This record gives sequence, C-alpha cells and structure tokens, in this order.
Amino acid sequence: MASLKDKVAIITGGSRGIGRAIAKALALEGCSIAITYKSSSAQAQELVNEILNMNSKALAIQADSAKFEDAQRVVDEVLKNFGKIDILINNAGITRDNLLLRMSEEDWDEVIETNLKGVFNFTKAAIKHMISQRSGKIINIASVVGLIGNPGQANYAASKAGIIGFTKALAKEVASRNIQVNVVAPGYVETEMTEKLSEEQKKRLFELIPAKRIAKPEEIAYVVKFLASHEADYITGQVIVVDGGLTA
Ligand code: NAP
Repeated sequence: MASLKDKVAIITGGSRGIGRAIAKALALEGCSIAITYKSSSAQAQELVNEILNMNSKALAIQADSAKFEDAQRVVDEVLKNFGKIDILINNAGITRDNLLLRMSEEDWDEVIETNLKGVFNFTKAAIKHMISQRSGKIINIASVVGLIGNPGQANYAASKAGIIGFTKALAKEVASRNIQVNVVAPGYVETEMTEKLSEEQKKRLFELIPAKRIAKPEEIAYVVKFLASHEADYITGQVIVVDGGLTA
C-alpha cells in the first residue's frame, strides 16, 4: 500500500474507539494527525503522545462536531499547524436509543446534529481547501443500521442513511476536482458504544453475524486507510460495508 507520508488527516471523534484506531493506522503510515474530541481530553492527549512516539505529528483539538464554528476553528488550526488537509475522516458519532414512541425530540436532535450535521460542518469547512488543492479524500463513518435499520434507533439510522445520501451527492459534485468521498459502514464493533449491550443482546447478535464475532476497531481502520490512499483514487460515492457478513 502507498505510504501516507507527508499527508495530513483530520479525524473527528479520534480520542476513543474506531476513530482512535484510524488515527493510529494512518500515523503508522507517516500521516500527520489532528483528532477532535468533545470531552475526553485525557484520552485524546494520551493518543497524541503515542503518535508523537511513532515519529508522526499529532494534535488534539476540543471541538463539538455539532457546531459549525468549532469545525471551522479546527480546519483553521490544522492549516496553521500543518499547512494543508489531505484527508478528512468524519467519525464522531453518538447513540440515544429508544423506541420512537418514547424518543424525545432532544434525543432526535442531538443524534442528527452530532452525526449528520457534524459531517456537513467539517466537510463544508474543509472542502474549499481541498478544491483549491485539487485533491482530497473524505471518508464518512456510517453504519449498516443506515442501510437496514434497527428497532430503537430511528434517530441513529436516519443520521447514518443521511450520511450515505450526502456522500453520494458530494462525490458527484467534486469528482472532477480529484476529491473522492466514500462511506465505510461498519456492522458491530468492539468499542464503548457497544459495551452497553447486555450479554443476552450480544449472544443474539453473534447468532445473526455469519462471522460469529464482532469486529475489532482496527478492522474498520484498515479499510479507511485503503480509501485514504492513492490506490483508491478511482473509488468515489461508494459504501464499503465491513460487517462480518451481517448484511450479505
Ligand atoms: P465511541 O467509542 O463512543 O467513540 C466516539 C468518539 O466520538 C469519541 O472520541 C467521542 O469523543 C467522539 N464524539 C462523540 N460526540 C462528539 C461530538 N459531539 N463532537 C466531537 N466528538 C464527539 O464510538 P465508536 O464505536 O468508536 O464509533 C465511532 C463511529 O463509528 C460513530 O460514528 C459510530 O456511529 C460508528 N459506528 C460504530 C459502530 C460500533 O459498533 N461501535 C458500528 C457502526 C458504526 P468524547 O469521548 O470526547 O465524547
């Protein structure tokens, strides 16, 4: 695989889980990394130190993905520190699960604003630079739930399906500028997001997954790393599902 040496990546929600694994995978290829987080500053700083020890550059910036001004501040800070942006990974995401009958307007808004508007905010803030640079890779982390739905997750499924529509539209807008926009849609991944599942829920899940296990965050990061590389230059507007066969 082509090296990502001298490339610069922003990873939203990079302090924990899948974002953290993506940050490490790109840093190992020599990429300079800027991660954002909402509140886990200790974990974000610890990751920055880990990446600096790998001899790659790293920066952690507190920024709420739901706020456009935060996204603009991150883009400005990364341009000031690293001089360019080659890769944007829109990964920050939350769940606020409930059956629609019991779902509050607040839980709907928070999920849509963090997961879907967050993708708009960071992409809108970074795209101008990518267009004038005439290159860029945008990888949005959705979920298989955005393709097949899941009871209790109408807000989350809508946010992830929205990300897929956004990706396809934008991919068509910027393909001629040498900017590729794709989605990675994981199935179930071992992170704090899925830690909340009961043993019974996990058992039922395993029965549905042909691979009979949930993914490690690194298994999502490998696919993101490929999409961020030069080898994926002819792939755009696609949804790459990484789910152990769940939706096969
Ligand atoms: P996670 O372990 O809960 O980590 C979420 C990350 O996002 C953290 O770094 C968190 O930072 C950050 N974040 C949350 N809200 C934010 C906000 N408003 N602004 C900025 N950062 C924010 O989650 P994960 O499992 O790694 O999930 C990462 C992505 O993969 C999400 O988009 C999720 O929907 C998607 N996904 C996950 C799974 C799964 O099974 N785990 C499956 C499919 C898709 P703080 O700690 O500071 O809040």
